[in-house]
Amino acid sequence: MAQTLAEKVQSRKTFAIISHPDAGKTTITEQLLLFGGAIRQAGTVKGKKSGKFAKSDWMAIEKQRGISVTSSVMQVDYDGFQINILDTPGHEDFSEDTYRTLMAVDSAVMVIDSGKGIEPQTKKLFKVCRMRGIPIFTFINKLDRDGREPMDLVAELEEVLEIDAYPMNWPMGMGKNFLGIYDIYNERVEVTHPEQNGDNDFLPLNDKGEIVGDYPIKDSTIYTQALDEALLLKEAGNKFDEEAITNGELTPVFFGSALTGFGVHTFLDAFIDFAPQPASKKTAEGDVVPTDAEDLTGFIFKIQANMNPAHRDRIAFMRICSGEFEPGVDVTIQRTNKKMKLSHTTQFMADSRGNVESAVAGDIIGLYDTGNLQIGDTLYEGKDPVQFEALPQFTPELFMKVTPKNVMKQKSFYKGVKQLVQEGAIQLYKTYHTEEFIIGAVGQLQFEVFQYRLLHEYKAEVDMTPMGSKIARWIDEDDLDTNMSSSRNLLCKDRFDNPVLLFENQFAVRWFEDKYPDIKLRSLL
Ligand code: GDP
Repeated sequence: MAQTLAEKVQSRKTFAIISHPDAGKTTITEQLLLFGGAIRQAGTVKGKKSGKFAKSDWMAIEKQRGISVTSSVMQVDYDGFQINILDTPGHEDFSEDTYRTLMAVDSAVMVIDSGKGIEPQTKKLFKVCRMRGIPIFTFINKLDRDGREPMDLVAELEEVLEIDAYPMNWPMGMGKNFLGIYDIYNERVEVTHPEQNGDNDFLPLNDKGEIVGDYPIKDSTIYTQALDEALLLKEAGNKFDEEAITNGELTPVFFGSALTGFGVHTFLDAFIDFAPQPASKKTAEGDVVPTDAEDLTGFIFKIQANMNPAHRDRIAFMRICSGEFEPGVDVTIQRTNKKMKLSHTTQFMADSRGNVESAVAGDIIGLYDTGNLQIGDTLYEGKDPVQFEALPQFTPELFMKVTPKNVMKQKSFYKGVKQLVQEGAIQLYKTYHTEEFIIGAVGQLQFEVFQYRLLHEYKAEVDMTPMGSKIARWIDEDDLDTNMSSSRNLLCKDRFDNPVLLFENQFAVRWFEDKYPDIKLRSLL
């Protein structure tokens, strides 16, 4: 039977996996794709050597056009649900796009390396999720290796991230002595069975929380210690509270090993139970409800430009917020009031990529764009204009001075900078009096893309002088006294002419705060 729109929306789970590089994001993503039957063997996401990815037509399109979108959005079916996993690029690919992707998800999975605990990039991405109040599910990974004490890791989570944690399960040993997990939530013990090819044994518990039946594991001190700790947590720890999870105030914590696949299935099943369906989205006129069948609405959260100069087209990623997409639908771009027919679109199935037949709230579709769309644009069907809240801007951390190499090409330089700034590829600042151009980014890649695109799309060569990392803080125009600028901070204005100070380091910020206690310094996100 055909599904109703409400049923389709209810089946969507759209989330991002956030982590510091090397914590295991790719490995866990592959496991999730394997469960959904989207790939046949691990190693396909990164390696792209084998499996369905390499075979898909999409790869050919990517090659031809030079746009890499392979793993930007992965869509898989699991247990009657459609899971949309959005990639949050890390390493040298970390950019404002990484943050903006988090604006398009309904929940996040935070992967932590059990040997390392909370790392800087996890913290940054977590902050953005927290600001949005979206549910955050924690997976503490690499239990097959010796790592830090589980109690210590959970305490760190609560202290550093300031979020309550609720262990859904508890590891029994680690490294060579890893026996499995004491599953608090499902009231069972899950033991590893390497020789069974990932099929684990589930042992039931009695009402004292102990394993029922005659299993040798009961004599192991590793089991009894895990049992003691799990019972202690039940007594003294946070209480399970579904509403707090939904509000992003309590994170359910799972332990496992993505590499051996241990604990990932158990995690996914609980995640499916508690991860929210697509949420309503705010506008000045009230909320847009996902099941509003009349009107397709969505917003653009990412634009991927073509790196191949022979092809100037781009792909705009639209998160659908309401209604149902069908090929050929007419929409209006709210910002420009321009009409657009959405016929040339693509979806992001992990096993095949083709034209989108149908998509609903929570889904991400790719629109081929020749320059009509900008990040943050709202698209709507029908006559009544819809404008979603603006996407937030993020405080850049890296800065470069930038000048055109060729004075004769100044015009194209200014045009290119203006357009790339508008598009959200980079942020622009100017020194307060002399108006020298400074560009700001959250990741190094943004500078490289900026330089490349200026050259290839605007024929403007630039000189870039790194200024290193700075702490950008905004102050009220009324508070501004140009004497506040010193060798430790550089007074600039942002692209809306608001004054902003670029501090050398935290010490310089504190020094300023001590000197001007009445002045409020503000950051973006
Ligand atoms: P990402 O950078 O977060 O995407 O991390 P990857 O998934 O690429 O993993 C980084 C490295 O850690 C790779 O060498 C993985 O094989 C390894 N790794 C991932 N998960 C586990 C795990 O559960 N146990 C162990 N021992 N290694 C893992």
